[in-house]
Amino acid sequence: MKEECGIFGVIGLKDAANFVALGLHALQHRGQEAGGIVAHDPEQGFNNARRFGYVRDNFTSHKVMETLPGPLAIGHVRYSTAGSKGQTSIRDVQPFFGEFSMGGAAIAHNGNITNADALRRELTDRGSIFQSSSDSECILHLMARSLQRNIPERMEDALRRVEGAFSVVAMTRTKLIGVRDPLGVRPLVLGKLGDGYALSSETCALDIVGAEFVREIEPGEMVVITDKGVDSSSPFRKRKSRFCIFEHVYFSRPDSILGGRSVYETREAIGRELAKESPVEADLVCPVPDSGTPAAIGYSLQSGIPYAMGIIRNQYMGRTFIEPTEQIRNMGVRLKLNVNRALIKDKRVILVDDSVVRGTTSRKIKEMILDAGAKEVHFRIASPPTAWPCFYGVDTPQREKLLAATMSEDEMRDHLQVDSLKFISLDGLYRAVGETNGRDPKSPQYCDACFSGEYPVEPADMIQKGFQMKTAAE
Ligand code: SF4
Repeated sequence: MKEECGIFGVIGLKDAANFVALGLHALQHRGQEAGGIVAHDPEQGFNNARRFGYVRDNFTSHKVMETLPGPLAIGHVRYSTAGSKGQTSIRDVQPFFGEFSMGGAAIAHNGNITNADALRRELTDRGSIFQSSSDSECILHLMARSLQRNIPERMEDALRRVEGAFSVVAMTRTKLIGVRDPLGVRPLVLGKLGDGYALSSETCALDIVGAEFVREIEPGEMVVITDKGVDSSSPFRKRKSRFCIFEHVYFSRPDSILGGRSVYETREAIGRELAKESPVEADLVCPVPDSGTPAAIGYSLQSGIPYAMGIIRNQYMGRTFIEPTEQIRNMGVRLKLNVNRALIKDKRVILVDDSVVRGTTSRKIKEMILDAGAKEVHFRIASPPTAWPCFYGVDTPQREKLLAATMSEDEMRDHLQVDSLKFISLDGLYRAVGETNGRDPKSPQYCDACFSGEYPVEPADMIQKGFQMKTAAE
């Protein structure tokens, strides 16, 4: 599973683009493929820079940053969840910009529009000319067709037509705008930064620029920020929120706060639940770094089995290094992770990982641990089996490629050839995120569709393409 996108915006500070670059750098875990910044300066108007690769490689040079002056800027880091997946062209890199009769506007979108195909068909039939293959561009075209008088109202109009998951940061010449879809699937937070404000996917990016966390943007809320302050409205039909529970397990950074809870503490609680649900006799608890680390600590604290860094991650692994040749690509996991042999030899090892998707990485890690002389390998997984794809902004393989879609837990254990394999239960995960009574099956508190197959928004485009929803018998 690959993270989706990260968005960040700043208003009211000199050279806002510099703060946006720092914010995007802190959100790099949400998308490493490309990034972009749009800035507005009263004298020089709108400017933008969009690049492939890491923020640190593109938005640190004076040469680039001096082309982005002004007190208002937004930015986006991208992993391709929609659009030209696997072969992104620069025209798919956000933010997108449009010139309207009342002035320009730029938008950066995190999430996935589940009726984008239908909208695109309708818009192109009526004369819209798309510049990219990204679903997010639909929002700009819907805004262009709206009859409302100002850009925030046009945006409201446009987003009422959009289904699925969206957290959006947008800007005009004088306004920074933040919106979350009615279910609040993807995160968006507000921060105070000196005399200005910041909007960010996660609180960790507010910390980096020295902004004070004010609050989360509520599901279904729109904020319009100007030099006069923050104006909030609720333009959408009220619905029960369904935040992505996987943000707690994996996507968000452990130093972020989600729903008033520290992501790190939640992950540690997941490890504790896992230890209660699925104990096993062993000598060591080791995380699969980095996202399995807090859950492994929780498992160790709960079980009393010592925690150890049995697998070491190469922190300097870059995408570019693995790309050049097929031979190097095939080395895959070993380039990223290495076993700490001295710790592992002759030990019964519990490996704690965040998820099992295709199972290929888990199998290679197990082989590395056995090669290093481990006596037993027990996998404990900090999420329930991922049996369904995500259509709300996370890149998941097709359903038939998900190991849990075709195998039971025992079959997966045999397939991975490990001594035991246990996933946290869905109720256990809900308890760890603070729902003491577990999941409410009649009205689930979170989106958990990739585990349960119960999609809070019907994935219309995918059904049109033949995707089979869960049947009553399943
Ligand atoms: S399907 Fe899974 S990954 Fe996607 S939004 Fe829902 S919980 Fe998150």
